[in-house]
Amino acid sequence: MADEVAVVGGGIVGCALAAFLAEGGASVTLYERTGIAAGASGRNSGIVQHPMDALLAPLFEETVGHYRDLAEFGFALPAEPTGLLVLSADEALLDDELALIGDGFPELGLERLPPGEPRRLEPLVAPDLAGVRIATGYAVPPAEATHAFARRAEAAGAKVVLEPAGADAPADAVVLAAGPWTPALADPSGAWRPIEPLWGVNVEVHLPSPPRHALEEAGIDSLLAKGGGGDGLFSIVTAQGVSSLGSTFLADEPDPEERAPVLRQRGSRFVPALADAAIVSVRSCARPRSVDGLPLLGRRGDVFVAAGHGAWGISLGPASARLVADLVLGRDPAIPPELDPARFGG
Ligand SMILES: Cc1cc2nc3c(=O)[nH]c(=O)nc-3n(C[C@H](O)[C@H](O)[C@H](O)COP(=O)(O)OP(=O)(O)OC[C@H]3O[C@@H](n4cnc5c(N)ncnc54)[C@H](O)[C@@H]3O)c2cc1C
Repeated sequence: MADEVAVVGGGIVGCALAAFLAEGGASVTLYERTGIAAGASGRNSGIVQHPMDALLAPLFEETVGHYRDLAEFGFALPAEPTGLLVLSADEALLDDELALIGDGFPELGLERLPPGEPRRLEPLVAPDLAGVRIATGYAVPPAEATHAFARRAEAAGAKVVLEPAGADAPADAVVLAAGPWTPALADPSGAWRPIEPLWGVNVEVHLPSPPRHALEEAGIDSLLAKGGGGDGLFSIVTAQGVSSLGSTFLADEPDPEERAPVLRQRGSRFVPALADAAIVSVRSCARPRSVDGLPLLGRRGDVFVAAGHGAWGISLGPASARLVADLVLGRDPAIPPELDPARFGG
């Protein structure tokens, strides 16, 4: 077991790692170059959601358990999921969505809704839309879980240093959890780049009676598989009365102010009241998208890596962090070989 461990990156993955490592007896320094939750972990849409992928589902289940343990550090996961409504006027797209999910997750209670039925569940939804209801999705304020893990790490003795660091941080072991910037730290030569940023803009809007379900336009999985592009896809998540309207999927960092009216316009096709909704704030951040859509958890050369959760780091990151923390602590965790960073070479 390494006595002194440096964790690089103060997002959900790095903060959870620092907590698990410190509680496991390591002397931990967490390096964050900007501020805790400064990246996607503080600026996401705020839905803790089933990944609908058999390999990743156990990470989601474990993550929900970790969130239940964070109450004393100021994070409360809602008791029940709000439910997710996937919407489209094109019924064939919804059938594709159902086929993609398959029938391997009875716990998701998949329900196909004919045109008009989504509006019965959520009165703000446009009347002609059909949908799929999925029994998942805990809506949370985007940054709260990350801050709670940082507090838990400090309570266990971890030191937080607001400075940049790299693979050469002074420690017996270094864990890189720097989101999309992880490959550049692991391999400054530029040859190893299995994770790329996929930039998203979120707009906080005020709706007097916001939807209870998380709402999403059909097609996000196929867009992610393609590596993003286009004008983005509609989504809206409301946590504690604040609605986050999304989002774009772009290789280059966008100007969020420029994108906000486009997102609101697109959203009004699904929730007409958005056309007149007041914009409270806008933000952008980068999803750490891996080339094969799966996280990278384990060793790469002399360092450990925990990154690449793409669109689902809030939903999976804490369980990934626990696996990598166990590896650093010499506990031989069962990390699926499909997630080994070595799949992308040395
Ligand atoms: C628009 C949008 C909406 C999203 N919505 C959801 C959602 O609803 N549900 C969900 O599960 N996921 C969502 N995600 C994905 C999720 O936010 C990410 O997968 C997750 O936050 C990634 O966490 P991370 O800790 O790996 O990386 P990050 O949060 O990016 O953290 C990495 C940190 O490393 C720091 N860093 C970088 N380089 C250095 C260095 N050299 N030294 C020190 N620090 C460094 C950065 O400043 C940053 O704070 C969304 C993403 C986007 C973009």
